[in-house]
Amino acid sequence: MAKMVVYKFGGASVKDADAIKNLAEILRNRLRRNMVIVVSAMGKTTNALESILELKLSGNDYSLNSAKIKEFHFQICSELFPNGHRIFLLLENLFIALEKRLEFDLNKEIYDEYYDSVIGYGELLSSRIVMEYLCLEGMITLWKDAREFIKTNSDFRFAKINWSLTKAFCQSQLRPLLETYPIVTQGFIGSNEQNLPTTLGREGSDFSAAILATSLNAQSVTIWKDVPGVLNADPKRYSDTVLFQEIGYEEAAEMTYYGASVIHPKTIKPLAIAGIPLFVKSFLKPDSDGTKIHQTEHTVQVPTYIVKEKQLLVSFKVTDFTFIEEKQIHQVYEQLRALKLRVNMLQISAISISLVMDSQLFMLEKLLTNLKPFFEIRYNEGLELLTILHPGQISIAEHLEGYEVLLEQSTRNTIQVVRRKKVEN
Ligand code: ASP
Ligand code: MG
Repeated sequence: MAKMVVYKFGGASVKDADAIKNLAEILRNRLRRNMVIVVSAMGKTTNALESILELKLSGNDYSLNSAKIKEFHFQICSELFPNGHRIFLLLENLFIALEKRLEFDLNKEIYDEYYDSVIGYGELLSSRIVMEYLCLEGMITLWKDAREFIKTNSDFRFAKINWSLTKAFCQSQLRPLLETYPIVTQGFIGSNEQNLPTTLGREGSDFSAAILATSLNAQSVTIWKDVPGVLNADPKRYSDTVLFQEIGYEEAAEMTYYGASVIHPKTIKPLAIAGIPLFVKSFLKPDSDGTKIHQTEHTVQVPTYIVKEKQLLVSFKVTDFTFIEEKQIHQVYEQLRALKLRVNMLQISAISISLVMDSQLFMLEKLLTNLKPFFEIRYNEGLELLTILHPGQISIAEHLEGYEVLLEQSTRNTIQVVRRKKVEN
């Protein structure tokens, strides 16, 4: 039996008509049976859907925003398909379903569940368009709704995978079909036990690819990106980047943990456990090698720069002249756990605990309310967290020019700095 492979195409690789044509060219000589193609929403569609939800929540008109999303998808299709092609009817139906969803009332209490019932439309639209376009180009694939086989718990917006159910469904529903046809499906979305839509966290389509690969015992996963592979820094921020030819799973996991956005942090673990290699390749230069992430000792330890934006620094100071002890740390961590917040950097001094986290809607509010009785709390928003792995002998000063430093921490292998751009006046 031919080996299974999983391809994942992110938002940038389907951002307009030319991008989709390019995707089809990549697949022209590569498409085969036993291939699953996972696609994200086109371009910034997920952000656009998020804006609609925020407008709706605050009671504002979102009709212009939803009209724009519709126009965007129809425009792309008019460049790809002949008049009267069935894609136009398929899209029309998806938009009617989306508008119906948005007619339901929304309030803060049900926000996460409501969010998941809306946000996945980006993926439903893009995967339909990709599948129909491949078909038009003579590449026959099947379209499958990922919510039928990616099964999760009910932690809406951050759903956890029910691995045994997902594996069972992938084996029973997908595998037989894959023996005859490649399958196009969506990343990011799943469903809970009641079959309500859930999502795996923003940028979660990489993780979806890894879930499918493990559930189908795939031979490899390839993530097609707008960069040549995994680099030692984001080429949009740094010149002179170095491309890694191969990286060990552990090193890759560490990079994603600190915020390297090239792969979603949850992607590596399942692949490492199953020993499935992950290729990160350029959709602009599909024939070049890219990066192979697998079991290897050969990682080159060059300084690696990772910048995480939209960071929040919160400091909890004890107010009663005592010192920070286990009890206070526990109090803070209990709240973080309850609110499902992840800490990117932690510093403890005699009288305060400082945490750096991703900014998230409502979370700060809740955290402050719950911990106000015990601490004096200060916070700063709109910060950046710079992590340098394997800093070696580099000088940090040049990375801080024009920035104000709020927190700094270094070990032999890692330097972390929380910084804010100085405003010039
Ligand atoms: N479309 C989703 C997002 O932008 C999932 C993904 O792109 O991986 O978060
Ligand atoms: Mg996306």
